[in-house]
Amino acid sequence: MKWQLKIGVLVCLVAVLICQRSAWLHGDEVVPPNPAPKWYKGNLHTHTLWSDGNDFPEMVAEWYRVKGYNFLALSDHNLLSRGQKWINDTLPSDRGAIAGVERYLARFGDQWVEMREEDGRRQVRLKPLNEFRSLVEERGKFILMQAEEITDSAEGKPVHINATNIRDVINPQGGETIRETIRNNLNAVTSQSVQAGRPILAHLNHPNFGFAVTAEDLAHVLEERFFEVYNGHPSVGHRGDKHHPSTEVLWDIANTIRVGQLKARPLYGIATDDSHNYFGDRDSSPGRGWVMVRATHLTPETIIQSLEAGDFYGSSGVQLRSFNYDPDSGEFSIEIDGQPGETYVTEFIGTLVGYDATSEPVLDENGEPIATTQRYSDDVGKILAVVKGEKPSYRLSGNELYVRATVTSSAVADNPFEPGQKQQAWLQPVGWKQHLAKP
Ligand SMILES: [Zn+2]
Ligand SMILES: [Zn+2]
Repeated sequence: MKWQLKIGVLVCLVAVLICQRSAWLHGDEVVPPNPAPKWYKGNLHTHTLWSDGNDFPEMVAEWYRVKGYNFLALSDHNLLSRGQKWINDTLPSDRGAIAGVERYLARFGDQWVEMREEDGRRQVRLKPLNEFRSLVEERGKFILMQAEEITDSAEGKPVHINATNIRDVINPQGGETIRETIRNNLNAVTSQSVQAGRPILAHLNHPNFGFAVTAEDLAHVLEERFFEVYNGHPSVGHRGDKHHPSTEVLWDIANTIRVGQLKARPLYGIATDDSHNYFGDRDSSPGRGWVMVRATHLTPETIIQSLEAGDFYGSSGVQLRSFNYDPDSGEFSIEIDGQPGETYVTEFIGTLVGYDATSEPVLDENGEPIATTQRYSDDVGKILAVVKGEKPSYRLSGNELYVRATVTSSAVADNPFEPGQKQQAWLQPVGWKQHLAKP
C-alpha cells in the first residue's frame, strides 16, 4: 500500500471514531425512524406565579425535569404565560415561598433573572413560556406544553377545565347550569382546535371540588372525554363524604350511564398534581399524581394522540411495565413494575349487562333531596375480581358494559395528600366498544 493510501485510510478511521464518540456523548444524533412506543411521564395540571402558584415558571419546569418527568403542561388560571408581566418580589413569600426570589437567582443567575425598581419596590419579570422553554426542554426527554385552566363557575359552584396544547387563551364561557357550562367551554376548546389545526386535550378538573359536578353531569355531557379521577390537591374532595361519592365512584356511575343507557363511550380518568406550592409538602405540592403515556414520540401531538386512544394510566406511585386488552380473547392483563418489599392488590371493577339501574335521591335530615349524585345499586361499579401479585389479569366474558382496574401498593405515596395514602394506578375502562350506538 502506498503511503498516501495508508494515511487516507487512517484519516477515515479517525473521522469515523470521532463521529461515533460524538453520538455516544450526545445520545441519538438522528431522530430514529419508527421508534418503538415508550412510556412517558407527565403532569397535565400545574400552576406558577403567572396565576396563583408560588414559584417561577422555569423553577417549576426544572422541578419536574429533574424528577424524571417527560412532559409538563403549565395550566394557570384563565391566562397563558405570554407577554410582559412583572411581580413584586414579595409576592412569592406572600404565597408561602421560602426565599423564592433568592432561590430563583441562585439557580439561574442574575444574567437570566430580570429585575427592576418600580415606585421604590423591587420587581421581578415572569418569563413567558416561549422565552424559557428552550432553556429546559430536551428532545426525547422533556417538553413543555402550553395549557390553561379555564376557570369558570355555574350555579355558584366551580367548573374548571384544563385545555392542553392551547394556542390562544379561552375566556370562561359561562352557562346557566353546570352541564351547559362544561359543554360551552368544551365547545370553545374544540372550535379553537379546528381553527388552529392542532389537537387540544380538554379534561374536566376535580369534579368533587365544592362538590360541583355530579356523576350524572359527568355522564350526560358527552363532549367530555377526560376527567381527573385523582388530583393531588388535598381540598378537592377525592374521597367524597357521606353525601357525595368519591371520584372513583363518580367514574363508575358516569361510565355505567354512558355505556349502559346512552350507548356512548366512557370517560377516561387521569391523575394530576394541580400543584401550587413548591416549598415543602403542605397544600397542593408537586409529585402526587401523573399520567404515564405510551407513545412513539415525545411531542405534544403524539402524547395527546395516545391519551385519546386510552393508551395511558394515571398514577400516584404505582408503575406498570405494561398492560394489554385483547378484544378477541377478552383478556385484560397488567404487568406491574414491582418494587422490593412492596405487595400489590388489583381490583377489576365494572358493571354487568342487565344491571339494576334504579337510583334514588340523597336526602338531608329534613328528608329534602340534596343536590348531589343519586344513590345507585351495588350493581354499578362492582368489584368483579381482586387479584394479588405483579401480573394480575381478568378475562372478560362479554357480559360487561366495561371493566377497569385500580392497582394499590402496600407502600405509602412519597408525598401523600392525606396521612397513610397508598400508592395507586388507575387503568382505563376496556370492553365497552361493542355496546356503543352504531353510527
Ligand atoms: Zn381548579
Ligand atoms: Zn388548578
